[in-house]
Amino acid sequence: MLNGKTALVTGSTSGIGLGIAHAFAKAGCNVVLNGLGNADDIAALVDQFNQDYDAKTVFLGADLMNVSEIENLMADAAAEFGGVDILVNNAGIQHVAPMEDFAPEKWDQVIALNLSACFHTTRLALPYMKEKNWGRIINVASAHGLVASVNKAAYVAAKHGVLGMTKVCALETAETGITANSICPGWVRTELVERQIEKRAAESGRTVEEEARDLLTEKQPSKEFVTPAQLGEAALFLASDAASQMTGTSLSMDGGWTAQ
Ligand code: NAD
Repeated sequence: MLNGKTALVTGSTSGIGLGIAHAFAKAGCNVVLNGLGNADDIAALVDQFNQDYDAKTVFLGADLMNVSEIENLMADAAAEFGGVDILVNNAGIQHVAPMEDFAPEKWDQVIALNLSACFHTTRLALPYMKEKNWGRIINVASAHGLVASVNKAAYVAAKHGVLGMTKVCALETAETGITANSICPGWVRTELVERQIEKRAAESGRTVEEEARDLLTEKQPSKEFVTPAQLGEAALFLASDAASQMTGTSLSMDGGWTAQ
């Protein structure tokens, strides 16, 4: 059913986005990879996708904190594949500091990437989806879209904002074949989280593995990390026919974090 569709996954050069990109490529979708990283590594990644999967994968680089680069990205994706059928807004960053020490430029960056970029890609993808009367918008939010933690003001604000924006998008497209939903992961051991674990270890003098265990114990009752591959399967489900009446909601995959 997804065969031949085009999936754009922002921030798919690593972590969760890469897991989701693999899932769509495996399902027969053309894939637009996007994200930051070393040019040779990215070229090797694109080659690997094109060897391993039948449909076509391209990389379109764009700094998603910059609106004109987002506009170019969406125009280039449309030129290559005639529009994006499945838009996965996944690129994100974290910054950890108490509010009184939270650098204003860090606030602006987190909001720009984790929230505003999702608005811009969505507004630019919708005309193509409406023309085909089919589309899937999947926003990778977070458990922090539902509940808060200390020292993450910008991230929590952005992720709550993503859930709100997703609901508006769902209402505006309710009578079409387009759906808009969020996925709310708990801890996934990606670069974004590894940096937080390393910072904790540097501050406490304990080992990285001790801090990783504590990180899970504090928030995630399963005490296991969610994997990018599991999130890829969740995204595939949201893109499937089975989920055609699922819109404006969020799917938690957080080992019980937000059940508490
Ligand atoms: P990651 O650091 O492994 O990946 C982030 C991706 O975003 C990378 O591909 C990076 O190149 C890209 N990126 C960063 N800045 C960018 C920019 N300015 N323009 C374009 N791309 C940019 O992190 P991850 O953990 O895989 O995070 C992916 C998403 O999942 C984020 O939105 C994050 O908030 C969310 N999330 C992560 C976790 C977790 O525990 N790791 C939990 C919940 C939600």
